[in-house]
Amino acid sequence: MKTKERYVFLECTECRERNYTTHKRLKAAYKLEKKKFCNMCRKHTSHREKKL
Ligand SMILES: [Zn+2]
Repeated sequence: MKTKERYVFLECTECRERNYTTHKRLKAAYKLEKKKFCNMCRKHTSHREKKL
């Protein structure tokens, strides 16, 4: 059986730059939020998922 996954952007919450793509399971209820380095802000910021 195949695991259904979809791709999402991780968007910087400060400058709205979409710096990363990742994937998660289709039925996952949670929202992804990760501390990532933002090239525009030049620091670590929270990145939130956005649909591709
Ligand atoms: Zn940023």
